[in-house]
Amino acid sequence: MIITKDLCKVFRTEEVETSALHDVNLHIERGEFAAIMGPSGCGKSTLLNIIGLLDNPSNGNYIFNNTDVSKKSEKQRTHFRKGNIGFIFQSFNLIDELTVFENVELPLIYMGLTTSKRKAKVNEVLERMNISHRAKHYPQQLSGGQQQRVAIARAVVTSPKLILADEPTGNLDSSNGTEVMELLKELNQSGTTVVMVTHSVRDSEYADRVIHLFDGKVVSENKHKQIKRELIKEKL
Ligand code: ADP
Ligand code: MG
Repeated sequence: MIITKDLCKVFRTEEVETSALHDVNLHIERGEFAAIMGPSGCGKSTLLNIIGLLDNPSNGNYIFNNTDVSKKSEKQRTHFRKGNIGFIFQSFNLIDELTVFENVELPLIYMGLTTSKRKAKVNEVLERMNISHRAKHYPQQLSGGQQQRVAIARAVVTSPKLILADEPTGNLDSSNGTEVMELLKELNQSGTTVVMVTHSVRDSEYADRVIHLFDGKVVSENKHKQIKRELIKEKL
């Protein structure tokens, strides 16, 4: 689903040039749950934004679903993203002026669904995220954990094949964090590919694989499940 070849990203302003990613080579399969870890400023969000078609690489190639999308225009990227990719952020990024229902409905309006189809879809996903009792509330009236559940509902309402989560539990206490991780696990088990940036070792244990970034480079990849399987085999 995701292949990057010698992916580089350089940010240029008038005075400084920051090289955020150098020669990143990744291969993420459909159905995989991958975690990206590394110190602050090492390029995790930059990588996730390129994977999510929010930004272009400066050099190298990005192949998404067998299409080279490295040099697509912003308009083409938006078109590609629509309905295919759901984003979840640390700070929830809900729209304060809209109710929970309206926030989750927004991607369906962009997709051009009819009012009745939108209503059915939004209600179904709010139910699934266990937040339907707050449909008429505004984001500020909810706890952090509830807001993140709304953000997840908004990310999944179009049934995307890929969910990208940038430190999704970063602003949550541990019990709300666990709830969010369980929701991501459920989505992954129902076939959605998940790529998550995290600082939490505990959260990374939900992933099939941990990709470690340092200074814009991939320094190692550990396959939790593979390691676990090998350990079990040894014991048998
Ligand atoms: P992380 O998410 O791992 O903390 P980022 O991907 O946000 O790191 O940033 C990687 C590097 O790129 C940092 O040095 C950061 O300052 C720089 N950077 C990120 N976004 C921009 C931008 N829009 N303009 C200039 N520099 C940026
Ligand atoms: Mg970041």
